[in-house]
Amino acid sequence: MTPIDPADRSCMLSIIVPAYNEEEVLPAFHARLTSALAAIPGLDDRWEVVYVNDGSKDHTLNILREMQKSGGAIGVANLSRNFGKEAAMSAGLKLARGNAVVLIDADLQDPPELIGQMVQVWQQGADVVNMKRISRQGETWFKKASARWFYKVINGLSEVHIPENVGDFRLLSRRAVDALNQLPERNRFMKGLFAWIGYKQVVVEYDRHPRAAGQTKWPYLKLLNFAVEGITGFSVVPLRLASYAGFLTALSAFVYALFLLVKTLVIGDSVKGFPTLILTILILGGLQLMAMGIIGEYLGRLFMESKNRPLYLLDEYHSPQENVKPAQA
Ligand code: UDP
Ligand code: MG
Repeated sequence: MTPIDPADRSCMLSIIVPAYNEEEVLPAFHARLTSALAAIPGLDDRWEVVYVNDGSKDHTLNILREMQKSGGAIGVANLSRNFGKEAAMSAGLKLARGNAVVLIDADLQDPPELIGQMVQVWQQGADVVNMKRISRQGETWFKKASARWFYKVINGLSEVHIPENVGDFRLLSRRAVDALNQLPERNRFMKGLFAWIGYKQVVVEYDRHPRAAGQTKWPYLKLLNFAVEGITGFSVVPLRLASYAGFLTALSAFVYALFLLVKTLVIGDSVKGFPTLILTILILGGLQLMAMGIIGEYLGRLFMESKNRPLYLLDEYHSPQENVKPAQA
């Protein structure tokens, strides 16, 4: 069976590439991507690549424009500023027109050669093809360990299962893309949203390579924020934990109060007990601050959602169709 029905000329594959300061790697990436696409049997030229420039501060946009001029079905979207990868991907998902859509990083950490295999899995009926990294070369011990912990925590807390070690490299069927485009929330924890839509999800394993050139755009603090975002966006369990903790402390305080009352009545009052006093104050104060912090996290989310701002602003989009020269009459 050929992966793509050659008779169905309308069938198309879209590749979405978010790019933020990727001038060093883009030309190499594009060359590898196009040769990988050319190698997919039956696909011919029925593909488009949508690059989303996420407010890069280097020459990424110029390079993309040059690439577009040199021909091929390339779309270049420019966001009005840096909105973050999740927003850039959301923009790409809105612009892509394919029957299947692949999300891929520009830094060659996700090998474009795997797209053929992903298309095959899609042709066999999958709606979401999740690419699972079995090795994370070029990443520090700390990053690997924190990633493992993150999946443990979030899967313990959230109601949808978020597959472990699956990044954003994936293929989505048209109905999966339409479903994602319908989700109105501003909190774009995409890993969670991909899992939330359901449909037929398949996991394919691959080796993750180190970045080909340039720097990672995810410092640790940003990753921590990302984790908090994911957990609070997909679970209200922390709120419940805060109430349980409060309830437990109140209960033990009540028991302790009874004990003190009896003790005072039996052996009389004394000025001793300063350590107990200070400990109680500290523990209670700490618990209250923690609970307030958790409530604050959710309140903040609610605040951001209630403003109902768009996820991103598009400066301009040059679609692949503008680029494809009309056939000679
Ligand atoms: N990216 C983006 N906007 C950002 C940060 C990153 O569009 O604010 C893109 C980046 O150009 C790359 C992909 O997201 O194509 C993954 O970024 P990176 O390689 O820095 O992340 P990592 O692989 O370290 O998780
Ligand atoms: Mg990367």
